[in-house]
Amino acid sequence: MRGLMQDRPLALPHVFHRAEQLFGHKPIVTATVTGEVATTVAEWAVRVRRLATALDTLGVPADGRVATFCWNTAPHLELYMAAPCTGRVLHTLNIRLFPEQLVYIANHAEDDVVFVDRSLLPVFLPLRSQMRTVRHVVVIDDGADHPLPDDAIDYDELLASSDPFEGRFEVDDENQAAAMCYSSGTTGNPKGVVYSHRSTLLHSLITLTVDGLGLSERDVVMPVVPMFHANAWGLPYAALLAGSSTVFPGPNMTPKGVLSLLERHRVTVTAGVPTIWLGALPLLGGYDLSGLTRILCGGSAVPRSLSEAYRTTLGVPILHAWGMTETSPVATVASPRTQDDALDDDARADARVRQGQPTPLVELRVVEPSSGEVLPWDDKSSGEIQAAGPWVAAAYYRDESGAGPSGSSQFTEDGWLRTGDVATVDRYGSVRIVDRTKDLVKSGGEWISSVELENALMAHPKVVEAAVIGVPHERWVERPLACVVVEPGESLTPEEVRAHLEPLVPRWWLPDAVEFIDEVPKTSVGKFSKRTLRDKFAGYELPEVDPAGRA
Ligand code: AMP
Repeated sequence: MRGLMQDRPLALPHVFHRAEQLFGHKPIVTATVTGEVATTVAEWAVRVRRLATALDTLGVPADGRVATFCWNTAPHLELYMAAPCTGRVLHTLNIRLFPEQLVYIANHAEDDVVFVDRSLLPVFLPLRSQMRTVRHVVVIDDGADHPLPDDAIDYDELLASSDPFEGRFEVDDENQAAAMCYSSGTTGNPKGVVYSHRSTLLHSLITLTVDGLGLSERDVVMPVVPMFHANAWGLPYAALLAGSSTVFPGPNMTPKGVLSLLERHRVTVTAGVPTIWLGALPLLGGYDLSGLTRILCGGSAVPRSLSEAYRTTLGVPILHAWGMTETSPVATVASPRTQDDALDDDARADARVRQGQPTPLVELRVVEPSSGEVLPWDDKSSGEIQAAGPWVAAAYYRDESGAGPSGSSQFTEDGWLRTGDVATVDRYGSVRIVDRTKDLVKSGGEWISSVELENALMAHPKVVEAAVIGVPHERWVERPLACVVVEPGESLTPEEVRAHLEPLVPRWWLPDAVEFIDEVPKTSVGKFSKRTLRDKFAGYELPEVDPAGRA
């Protein structure tokens, strides 16, 4: 017997029409080069409708790729909606990637048109002639004064000359592509993750659940995480669905810029990688952030010291979540659970820096990589975490690499995503990421978690940032090298660093060497770039350390 309910597509037009109909009065604020621009959802919706017509006028094919090269802004949000609601595919280009990667990605995705913020023209224009399929460049004026190329189309003029599309947007097939985002976390060329309308809508819905991110109509949401990083973790769509007010920080991502926006607009929910919150930490005292209720943080492990510093300074602990571009990205959230109530403060702080339980509809398993054995959830057995669910990728776009049913070794025979993250899971299903497979330090036959060492290092009051990499070692295969950034005006010696670590980690984990550096290099999305550090310290000569010290 079949169910007798309406078979309505789970598609983004619902989000658009809901926002337009119910939340027209809600504000959308963008910080631009020349100041703040305030608009409303009603005004935004008219522009989305104009943009829909404009895409037709530009001759963008039915499922053409509409690329964006933009900061977090309201016009970017217009593209977020107009492209998928008209059946096209939004393709957010990561403005911080290397030029050759950007060219590769635009060609691989076959981008038809690129919408570029004017302030980003100097980065984009040198690449334009190599992007073979791009027919139009539309420039969004964000107040910067860079000269426009002759054939550029002005975004505002384009909208002004386009009549608003009338009626309802329709996307009948919920499995149609809505957006794509390339993941550069894997080896080789970046891989295209293609989100469907269904996956995006379901992912947005789950972020509205209380144990998800709990987004509501009363929230003021400011995604600091870029809109080119896994759709700003789904927040723009989720905020529209919930009816939240939104604030977009534009190009001003400095700690001061971010903090003053949070204060001025009494933002309640914000999100960014740990680097953002680390950078803002020393300035927190100067701002009234009493509006904040959730500071979502993921993308890499949240150091315990950071989580605790926010809890004690603001009274709001960081809300830790884990995921990947391939998982849309939210897969686990560390919302406080009933079982945490019985814990003492210390254990609660530990619980907060776990990556948390899988959200509804996401399934996880921990697998021993060589045997494929599924490991128990005893919080001791560590293995690769694999994920399945309706917003988890099943394949990469036009994947030409590797084996496996979907063309890539990143998917298992039975269709699960291999995340490349090593984790343990406790009996309540709460995940603790030990490391990326490739970042674990292989010492003798044992593994050292670079993440745990970094956590311990960053707990030192004079340490701003610290990253640990494995350096080849004749006898032990690899040994840890700690790269440490010391607070300005302070100093530390390797011996002091080691003395600090001694009570916190097993003795054989103690780094063989400590290098003091000015800054930990960052990836295009603001995470520690271990690859750059490994290149920098290639051929590093470790000092002879008494092996007894590692027993
Ligand atoms: P990306 O696709 O760029 O978002 O990168 C995804 C990867 O970031 C994951 O596979 C993890 O290695 C890492 N990651 C994301 N969130 C976390 C987290 N909360 N803790 C530790 N690592 C994380």
